[in-house]
Amino acid sequence: MAVNDSTFELTVLGCSGGPVAGKTCAFLLKPSYISFQEALENDVDCILALDAGAGVETIAEMISDCRKNTSSVSSYFSQLYSNAEDPCFYSDNNDLMKTQPFEEVSRNLVDSSLQLAKGILNRMSAYIITHPHLDHVLGLVINSPCFTRQTPIYGTQQTIDNLKDHIFNGKVWPALSYLTFNYLQPYTENFNITESIAVETFQVSHGVTSPTELYKSSAFLFTETTDKGKLLFFGDVESDLSSNTKYNQHIWLTVADHILSKKLKAIVIECSSVDKKPGQPLFGHMTPTNLIGELLNLQNICLEKKATRHPLAGLNVLIIHVKEAFDYRGDPRKQVYESLRSLNQQHDLRIKFTICMPGISYFI
Ligand SMILES: [Zn+2]
Ligand SMILES: [Zn+2]
Repeated sequence: MAVNDSTFELTVLGCSGGPVAGKTCAFLLKPSYISFQEALENDVDCILALDAGAGVETIAEMISDCRKNTSSVSSYFSQLYSNAEDPCFYSDNNDLMKTQPFEEVSRNLVDSSLQLAKGILNRMSAYIITHPHLDHVLGLVINSPCFTRQTPIYGTQQTIDNLKDHIFNGKVWPALSYLTFNYLQPYTENFNITESIAVETFQVSHGVTSPTELYKSSAFLFTETTDKGKLLFFGDVESDLSSNTKYNQHIWLTVADHILSKKLKAIVIECSSVDKKPGQPLFGHMTPTNLIGELLNLQNICLEKKATRHPLAGLNVLIIHVKEAFDYRGDPRKQVYESLRSLNQQHDLRIKFTICMPGISYFI
């Protein structure tokens, strides 16, 4: 099932940064050598839910799309913007993309789309949550009554404590006994979250809760245990320049060696909106200029470690969490993509950018 020499299949259920609900950040991550159908048939615990702003309803829509040979999920943004394009428009590297990732699963005509979607949902080894903002957990909450087995939820202590204290507390939502909550310790050894995927956790800054208190989100470095390929995934994050911290710098120092050894397959990171006028608040998020600034920092670290030209050439950077816009310019993804491409060229970084779209699997 693997496409090219991919290590992971990252399936996007949602990647919007809101404020439109329904397709906010939710991803499935598994090794690419095993298909969803094989995982279901053989009860293989290999699928991770990575944030959960959407869930079973999107999986059901994707299965229904396969049966009807339509692509309503991947063309979702065309319902919002008259100038939205096909998913391949938003990628420098179309080899990564596979539409209809549940095609094989959808051939089972005995079960309804929703029954099959529930089957996939209950095949998740675990949920791993970057931070407890609603656009990253809504699917986990609403879908939880259809879980048929113990489901572990992982996150940093801040994430888990906030989920337990403020959502699954018996008042906002039932404190369900079949959800087990587990802490991930940042900056410690790799932890095998499934048989085939290990994770290392980092803290990142995502705005402030008061003038003196930073709000923390997480980044995860996933390693596939067989081929050792790695994927760096960021939850919502701001640049070190905005937060006046070194959280991102620490991550770049960690992954530079994996870039030089070609083990880092991709970086998945947010770019919530186009550049704003100086002084306008970013609310703990990134713009194209912020993101390119961070990637220039990563390039410099790589250059300091090893004298090689263009160390980031060919690196896939997948963009998530673009916020919907309500102005005359229409699809904000187009503007974000255009800005990133132009800055990429200006600084001769040679990165391959892709703006993620829902309903698509990216083989990385
Ligand atoms: Zn968010
Ligand atoms: Zn957030």
